[in-house]
Order: sequence, then structure tokens, then C-alpha cells
Amino acid sequence: MTTLPPDSMPRTLHSVPSYLDKSNLGPWEIYLEQVDRVTPYLGKLSYWAETLKRPKRILIVDVPIHLDDGTVAHFEGYRVQHNTSRGPAKGGVRFHQDVTLSEVMALSAWMTIKNAAVNLPYGGGKGGVRIDPRNYSQGELERLTRRYTTEIGLVIGPDKDIPAPDVNTNPQTMAWMMDTYSMNVGRTATGVVTGKPVQLGGSLGRADATGRGVFVAGAQALIKLGMPLEGAKVAVQGFGNVGYAAARIFHDHGARVIAIQDVSGTIFSAGGLDPYAVQAHLQATGSVTGFVGSDTLKGAEFWQVPCDILIPAALEKQITADNADQIQARVVVEGANGPTTPAADDILRGRGVTVVPDVLANAGGVTVSYFEWVQDFSSFFWTEDEINARLDRIMGEAFNSLWDVAERHGVTLRTAAYIVACTRVLEARALRGLYP
Ligand code: NAD
Repeated sequence: MTTLPPDSMPRTLHSVPSYLDKSNLGPWEIYLEQVDRVTPYLGKLSYWAETLKRPKRILIVDVPIHLDDGTVAHFEGYRVQHNTSRGPAKGGVRFHQDVTLSEVMALSAWMTIKNAAVNLPYGGGKGGVRIDPRNYSQGELERLTRRYTTEIGLVIGPDKDIPAPDVNTNPQTMAWMMDTYSMNVGRTATGVVTGKPVQLGGSLGRADATGRGVFVAGAQALIKLGMPLEGAKVAVQGFGNVGYAAARIFHDHGARVIAIQDVSGTIFSAGGLDPYAVQAHLQATGSVTGFVGSDTLKGAEFWQVPCDILIPAALEKQITADNADQIQARVVVEGANGPTTPAADDILRGRGVTVVPDVLANAGGVTVSYFEWVQDFSSFFWTEDEINARLDRIMGEAFNSLWDVAERHGVTLRTAAYIVACTRVLEARALRGLYP
């Protein structure tokens, strides 16, 4: 059977899936709009574009656990495999009270784009559980993780779909997932998840990898724009795995972190905040506010802070049409997934703000996850210097090649990343053809 599009227009009588229902707006629709924007650049491959608009597989699971008080609680969990044309699905697991199917679908699709944009041999997947982990004990979270892992055990595996940490999950969560999967299959399968503790086949450098990639991408953007890194003013939203590491590494390279916002509040200091000291203050007090020498801002004021680099590293849909025209930064480096809506993208572009998109800027995490997976398969572990050097090279090359594509087509870096990624995914789709 031919895998090339026929010359005459094909009949496209697709039924509308329920998740496209207009009452179910969400990040997924943002992703669809991003794909629509790139379709004109795909040439004949656009014949296969519908592939990108449908997750390959969606699993919704009930996760019942015994709470510490002896009662039983039920939580809804998801694992979405958006695409596996280029390799196994790969993407994190999020524990958050606002997780929805639409969100997990979008996050899985962004993983497909990200892995292809950076040319890792993976498709895209994502998982989540609707739970506010702050309200549960360590034991309850362990039982939740183990039951969730067992429920999605049908579809995950080292050569099928490889989860990793995301918001509110961490190396301990991955250790429980690895152990649960291993118990269920009767062998120790370290390669089933990445972001594990180093003692269990985790990779050196993984903890900081996403933040390090954010730094590499941001620093490259400054070079392209002829701006110095030394003294560059940085504002960071989100002070967790990604935001804290990015703030630290920018600080270590001479940039000045002047504003930090997390779920506990927003702090500002024109003279610069020491991220290490802010983290110690957060650990001690539970809040970034009250840090010595800082002013507390209202949440919305964060977006108006005069800075060179703005790093949204919390959740999606933070930069919207409501605040994009207030942003003072020259560069937005998206540590988070999906922090900028398409409408805000247009406003920022019109104002000359360079946006380094999530699918490039935060790809450092999955890149070192890929290194971890390769190391687990070969049982041969690299030094941290080797890992960082490989990460810097992959991120630097991806940045430069996407910058060139953006210049060639006169498009944003996001559209350039989508052109490159969608082309790679759809070339694989076309070469593989449709089964049966
Ligand atoms: P995390 O749980 O470690 O940290 C999240 C941070 O966001 C916390 O500081 C929290 O206080 C803050 N936050 C939450 N809600 C907020 C709000 N409404 N306003 C301001 N701050 C808020 O999570 P993470 O792993 O750092 O992930 C952050 C983002 O980066 C997510 O979009 C995630 O998908 C993305 N990401 C993470 C990785 C990774 O390796 N961890 C890789 C790629 C992308």
C-alpha cells in the first residue's frame, strides 16, 4: 500500500472526538492551534497532519487507596500516549489537584513535539493524578503511586512508554514506580522510568538538567540578540525543580535574579536575590516572602518587573492576552510547559520579545532522561561532566538549528520548532504507513 498522499484531495470525514467538545476547552486546544499554525509549512506531509491532532492512546484509571485513618479514597489518574511513530512514548507524571484529561493530552503532545525538535528517539506521553499531594502523608502518596503504576502498568515499559517526574513528583516517586513495575513483571526493570535516584540507575546531572537546559537556551538567545549574560536581570516564576535550578545556574554565571514567584508569593529586589539563600528561607519558613532585603509584590505585579529574561517555570497558561503587553523582558524562556497562550505569543512577537518555546527551552530534562535510559540499558554509567557536555551540545545545536529555521521562514522559534518536529514525526508516520 502506498504511503504517499494521492494527487486528488482525500476524503477527510473524521468523526469529531468527544475531547474536541467546545465545552472542554483547555491546553489541548492551545496545542491544536499551534499545530494549525504550522500545517502550511508541512507541504505534502500535511496529508498526515490529523495524526498529530489525536492521541494514539488514552488510559483513564481509578486509583483507590487506604488513607491513614483507615478510610478509602479514590483519585482519577491518566496516562496518555500521544504518538509513538519515532519511538516509545516518553513524558512525566504530574500530581496536581487541577490535572485534567485535556491537560495531560496537551502535555503528552508537547512531549512528542519536544522529543522530535531535539531529535531524541521517542514519541510523546504524559500522566497525571488529580490529587493535591500537600494534603497527604508520605505513606498515602506511596500507596497512591504504587496503585497508579499498577493501573497504568498495562501500557508502560522500558521499550513502550517511560514516565519521569513532573510537577509534584520527584526521584522518590520514580523509585516507587520502578519498584512497583519491577515487582509486577518479576524482574528489576530500571529503564521503566527516568529521574530515579542515582542509587537505582538514575543519572548524574538529571536533577538540574531541565534548569540547565533553560540556562543554555537563554544564554544562546542573549548571544543572538547581542546582550551580555553578566548582570542580565532575570525573573523566575516557579521555584521548584526547574525554576530553582535555572535561577541558580543563571546566578552562578553572573546574571542577577531580581524577582521570584511561587505558589507562596512574589518577591523582588533590584539588587538581586541569592537563589540559594531564598531556597533556604523557603525551606525554613514555607514561603519565599519575608526574605531579607526583598519586597513582596502582588501576584500580577510579577509580570511587570523590568527584566531582560523572564522564565515562567510553574504551570501552563500564565502569560495570556491579559498580561503579555505588560511584560518588560527582551527574552521569555519557557521552563514550564505551555505557559504562553497563542494570543499572548502574537502580542509578544508584535512587541519584539523573543520567546524560546517550551519544546526547546525545557528539553534538557528529557535529554538527560534519554541519557539515563541509555545508561540503564547498557548498565554503564557516565560522569557528570560527560553528561553536562553532551547536554550542552544537544541543546546548543538544537537552539542554533531552530534559530536558522526561524530566520529562513520568518517565523517565531515556536513555529520553527513545530516545523522541524512535525516534519520529523510525519516523515516517520509516512515511512511506516498505516497498519493494517
Ligand atoms: P515543581 O513541582 O518542582 O515546582 C513547581 C513550582 O511552581 C513550585 O515552586 C510552585 O510553588 C510553583 N507554582 C505552582 N503553582 C503556582 C502558581 N499558581 N503561581 C506561581 N507559582 C506556582 O515542578 P517542576 O518540575 O519544576 O515543573 C515546573 C514546570 O516545568 C511544569 O510546567 C513542568 O511540566 C515543566 N517541566 C518540568 C521538567 C522537569 O524535569 N521537572 C521538565 C520539563 C518541563
